[in-house]
Amino acid sequence: MIKKEQGINTLCTHAGELEDKEYKGAVSPLYMATSYAFEDVEVKRYPRYFNTPNQKALAKKLAMLEHGEDALIFGSGMAAVSTSLMAFVQKGDHVVFQKTLYGGTSNLIVEEFGKFGIEYSFTEDNSLESFEREIRENTKVIYIETPSNPLLTITDVEGIAGLAKKKQLVSMIDNTFASPVNQNPIDLGIDIVIHSATKYMGGHSDILAGAVIGSNEHINQIFQMAKNFGGSLSDYTVWLLERSIKTMGIRVKAQNENAQKVAEFLESQESVSKVYYPGLPSHPDHELAKKQMKGFGGMLSFELKDMDSSTFMKELKLIKPSMSLAGVESTILSPTKTSHALLTAEEREEQGIKDGLMRFSVGIEEAEDIIADLQQALEETKKDMLDIRI
Ligand SMILES: *Cc1c(COP(=O)(O)O)cnc(C)c1O
Repeated sequence: MIKKEQGINTLCTHAGELEDKEYKGAVSPLYMATSYAFEDVEVKRYPRYFNTPNQKALAKKLAMLEHGEDALIFGSGMAAVSTSLMAFVQKGDHVVFQKTLYGGTSNLIVEEFGKFGIEYSFTEDNSLESFEREIRENTKVIYIETPSNPLLTITDVEGIAGLAKKKQLVSMIDNTFASPVNQNPIDLGIDIVIHSATKYMGGHSDILAGAVIGSNEHINQIFQMAKNFGGSLSDYTVWLLERSIKTMGIRVKAQNENAQKVAEFLESQESVSKVYYPGLPSHPDHELAKKQMKGFGGMLSFELKDMDSSTFMKELKLIKPSMSLAGVESTILSPTKTSHALLTAEEREEQGIKDGLMRFSVGIEEAEDIIADLQQALEETKKDMLDIRI
């Protein structure tokens, strides 16, 4: 029996395993049935009811990893986000959202909430006062994301959980960037933890999935809506995700270590004007991050000084310019040209997103090789820029 007190790598590998009673195989068997007996059974099973053997087993693993009681697995991170939010609000209710959120979450709020008569406000910044100021009579939920995308801001998780309890609100966190290896918000008092499992849980840039973890009561409330919205994940992908999570502990720890080295390297470079990484003492919330995180994660951002981001990305040989994040391979993107391309220059400026900003998802390659690639690309870009000027 695996106990939740056991180490993260043990939980990742074994928690929630399905026993192969028939053949004694070493891994969970896969049950692909979409049709199960309905008579003389304890549970009427159906994949959209989130209760097949593989769904249940993976939910148990996730609940143990996030120190919750139960979990649901969805077909995408956004299915987890939207269903979890909608389960706790109705027409006339209000939600307080952190200012900086994943783009898809912002789109969900701005494009859909109005249609359902759900009110919302965004905070001015990440301070507790800013959250408290937005709470109204009809507020039901506070929603945060930390570390945030793309500037790796840190929100005080315990502070938000306390504020929510004081005001009797449901607190939710998008814990994707941290992963359960680096941050366990339920231990800090948060009610509901959401993940895009497409990221660190999948970890190989080949699975689209989402997850939500919480108490039995909260998960049941989300389930009531989830079975109607129909966003469950197919059993084959559930099984693949269970396999991926076995290595999440060692992957994320390697990514933490690499990101720290890369951040320190970048900070020492003249052609880099700023590095955003919670593991650096120069990060404004380094102390808070140290308090609430077990590792600082594999995501960082940096600003190129007087260099064109497209030229820089073209000079990279190992690191791939690519959307999405958290795979075993290092990937990089320019928020100005991708996630924040639809904003005006002023809006980007207001959010602190400069043209030379690069968002970097650090992989598990050798740190020296990642650094060497960055170094040669910085040097080559400098030369390219000189050539253009001549
Ligand atoms: C990717 C991501 C999501 C959305 O997840 P999908 O699996 O793409 O639907 C939500 N939150 C964060 C922080 C993400 O990075």
